[in-house]
Amino acid sequence: MESEVKIKSKKDKYKILEKSDDLYNCSRCGTCLAYCPIYKQTLNESFSPRGKMSLLEAINKGRLEYTDKISEKLFTCTTCNLCKGECPSGVKLDEMINVAKSDLIDAGKYPEVLDILKARIKQAYNITFDSNAGRFDWVKPLPESSPEKYVKKKADVVYFVGCVSSFSPRSFGIPRSIVQDLDSAKVDYTLLGEEEWCCGFPLINSGIKDVIGDLAKHNIEAVKSKNAKLLVLSCPSCYHTWKHEYQKYSDEKIDFEILHISQYLLRLIKEGKIKLNSLSGKVTYHDPCDLGRNSGIYEEPREVIKSIPGLDFVDLASNRKLSNCCGGGGNLESVNQALASKIALAKADEIISTGADIVVTSCQQCNRTIDSSLKKKKKETNTKIKVMDLPELVLQSVKGEEI
Ligand code: SF4
Ligand code: SF4
Repeated sequence: MESEVKIKSKKDKYKILEKSDDLYNCSRCGTCLAYCPIYKQTLNESFSPRGKMSLLEAINKGRLEYTDKISEKLFTCTTCNLCKGECPSGVKLDEMINVAKSDLIDAGKYPEVLDILKARIKQAYNITFDSNAGRFDWVKPLPESSPEKYVKKKADVVYFVGCVSSFSPRSFGIPRSIVQDLDSAKVDYTLLGEEEWCCGFPLINSGIKDVIGDLAKHNIEAVKSKNAKLLVLSCPSCYHTWKHEYQKYSDEKIDFEILHISQYLLRLIKEGKIKLNSLSGKVTYHDPCDLGRNSGIYEEPREVIKSIPGLDFVDLASNRKLSNCCGGGGNLESVNQALASKIALAKADEIISTGADIVVTSCQQCNRTIDSSLKKKKKETNTKIKVMDLPELVLQSVKGEEI
């Protein structure tokens, strides 16, 4: 006798099966092809946003199964979100791709590097295997480097440094500049020190959702324990996660203001607490994807630059919501280093064509990627463009030292 019990196959559990309406909104118009940095470099339709939607629709209709090849195509994405912003049919590409990544995680078909990343974060609460005590190493060259100065019991403002700025020596100039900017404005601030844990962005961005709740709860409690009224972040991905994701994953209420450092520096300048001296040079600005398109912060960094007397500001050809990704987003470097590098070199060409002496950004990852690509271009173009993060430029102006 035939059993009446329906056995659910693994396929029935795919979350993409619940996204039919969103997937069918794609009219296959191809507008997104003109914007996607992956498609522009590969000219391979199956890696494009439209191609990704076609594959997901086929899975949704049961015509295809998730395979390693499909996994490679879905994880080959900078998560820049240019496609979503320009799609005339309003397809929520970011949501669809993230749901598919989450299915691929459940199906065990994902880049191995994600297992390492997750293990590091669960074991050491940061994206390296270093002890979390190392979060404080970047302060050592500063004149006053005692933990008591930087990690107080209570303070008005908490500065959340982020994993990359805390552990990557190439980024140490950013937090060092920020604490000096805050000191110059006489802000009562503290770091969280060892109690700062990874915000969880690299995991949720890759479709891994089972750790984020614990990270969010811990970090929110850590800021609250300082009685802070304001949390300031310099990493756009940390900022985006805190501002737009945390409350979805934790019942611990956020009862303090959250600002990106570009917003806070502008406030301090307008209040007259940061005094700027004249500098000279032609400056352009790169909008980081997670700060601009993904969080809506475009004008504050530009206003900060324009408040420094003597600088000549010029926008990049692609700016604000149309800013081209630098290639450093979405773990693409771990999945396809050569492709990430091609995207970065295209960004370098765009920067060089402005004739600027300085390119400013507001993200440690963009800073590093742009710096590397400009160095590669230096031999070929003989151009020398300085890469600075916004707080570094502000500190230079505070000190009145020419760049
Ligand atoms: S722009 Fe939107 S509707 Fe057009 S092909 Fe791309 S995802 Fe589909
Ligand atoms: S998020 Fe960016 S890289 Fe990913 S598919 Fe869309 S445009 Fe392409």
